[in-house]
Parts: sequence; structure tokens; C-alpha cells
Amino acid sequence: MKKYTDSFDTSRGSAYHCAPMLTSQLPSRVEPYKLAARHERIEGLVALDKLPRLAEEAGVQTGDCHVVLEFGVDAQGRREIRGHLQATLALACRRCLVPLPQEVSSDFLLGMVTDEALAAELPASHEPVLVEKEQLDLLTVVEDELILSLPQVVYHDEAECHVSAEQLVSKTEGAAAETTPATNPFAVLNVLKGKK
Ligand SMILES: [Zn+2]
Repeated sequence: MKKYTDSFDTSRGSAYHCAPMLTSQLPSRVEPYKLAARHERIEGLVALDKLPRLAEEAGVQTGDCHVVLEFGVDAQGRREIRGHLQATLALACRRCLVPLPQEVSSDFLLGMVTDEALAAELPASHEPVLVEKEQLDLLTVVEDELILSLPQVVYHDEAECHVSAEQLVSKTEGAAAETTPATNPFAVLNVLKGKK
């Protein structure tokens, strides 16, 4: 039975402990006011290849995003969703453009509003989420949050990058030599200055 203990992933220390064999998909449409009234907690996976806007921002992704959503009502009577998500994305290295795995996670607090005008009444701690006809599309919520939590730039460690620092330098030098053959690069500057 040692097999089972070995396969048990204990390395992920998170406030929201992930069940090691979670396979259920997050429902795409829910009735959030009902869930809030019952203080329901939903946990599930979202297949990353179902999120076209994420693909536009970060390239085509495979695998799943792990999502925990806790619906509730706060002391002021606001219907809210406390959420946590975690995914491993493949993001292009800024230097060599080869994707590298990047852990992305986010904690968020959403305030439900039935009208966009009501969003202004929410405290700054809450991101508004528009609930129309008592329905909420959770895939849109997850996709929005994932896009918001994308890192600005991603680089390989220098030793692992497919473009080394020296290659970068020699490449630029090579390109300069090709485009301006046998001319003094300062000649361009002089022309510009002369035009003043
Ligand atoms: Zn790289």
C-alpha cells in the first residue's frame, strides 16, 4: 500500500488545500444568488483550452485551472464570491519566445450586481460581477481572473534560455552589419542632425 502514500501530493501547501484527485469540472452556469443564500462552496476544474480570450493573451494552453468559489452574504447584505484559482500556464519567454511553465494563482473577492450602475456602490475591496437573469457564467469569471493574474513578462533562467546573453549581443551586431553595409553608423546620425 506504499504506492498510495507515494502518489499523494503533499508539496502543495495552500490555504485551500487541493484534493489530490480532483477531477470534477466546474459548472459553467450557476444561479449565484441561490448559492450565496445557502453559503455554498464550489470546487472544480476548468479546461484551459476552453478559454479563447486567455489563448489570445497568453497563447494556446493545455491542462486545467483549479478553482474554489465560496458564495456568501456579508454583514451589509452584499452577495459575494470569495475565489481562489491556480493553474500552470505555458508562457512565452520574452527573450527566446519558447514557452516555459509558469504557476499562476489568484485570490479574489467579487460583489454581485444586477446592474452595471450598482457596481459603483461596491467597496474597493470587491470586483463587480454582473449577474443577469439570476445567472452567472463561471467560465467567464475564471477566464477574466486568469487574464488579470498573468505576469507582465516571463524569462527563462539565463542558463536555461534558448538565447544566451552573448547571442543576443552578436545577433544585434550582425543585424546592424547586414542592414547598413559598409556605412558608418554615425553617418545616419549626421544626416539627422543636418536636417534640423
Ligand atoms: Zn528563453
